[in-house]
Amino acid sequence: MRILIVEDEPKVASFIRRALEEERYAVDVCSDGIQGRDLASEVAYDLIILDLMLPGLPGIDVLKELRSGKVKTPILILTARSEVDQRVKGLDAGADDYLTKPFAIEELLARARALLRRASGETLGILQVDDLILNPVTHDVTRGGQRIDLTSKEYALLEYMMRNAGRVLTRTMISEHVWNLDFDTFTNVIDVYIRYLRNKIDRGRTHGLIHTVRGSGYTLKATDA
Ligand code: CA
Repeated sequence: MRILIVEDEPKVASFIRRALEEERYAVDVCSDGIQGRDLASEVAYDLIILDLMLPGLPGIDVLKELRSGKVKTPILILTARSEVDQRVKGLDAGADDYLTKPFAIEELLARARALLRRASGETLGILQVDDLILNPVTHDVTRGGQRIDLTSKEYALLEYMMRNAGRVLTRTMISEHVWNLDFDTFTNVIDVYIRYLRNKIDRGRTHGLIHTVRGSGYTLKATDA
């Protein structure tokens, strides 16, 4: 899952970035409202964390322009404690949630998980496809009760595929949601990671869950008997 942080305070931005990356999210950061608006309009982010006091364009205007431009990405706004008025305006302008600074990073992570959960229509917090289970809080992955150890990137790819189980995912979709702006789209990295995942998830099993869709991409789904 890919997250955009729009925050002009470098310390706060890098603190949030590090915490999100530890949770296996792909993260982009920008420090200016205009750049934030443009990135959020161009890239299919799964969540945007938006500070309200920003150079270039105030967060509230970023929010309004995104919503009027039909960007439906969940948005979590960051406000100072004194900005009650801004918070209300933010929620009315289409923000999904807010946090007041200073905040506990655990709370930000929990709110991020809740927003991602809501967006993917899943309510339990646990992702399950057939006998494959992924827990976004502990990052534990099991298949048939057996623990599977994944690298951060393998985990991120699997989480994205499980949140979109049954859908055909193109390489472009996968690269947009699992990698950040540093990603070189002209490599075969996605195919390589799919192979790694298959080795860990499907190898030696009677039915595979990761399927190649010829000419399109990949899909993760339970095979009908
Ligand atoms: Ca600020």
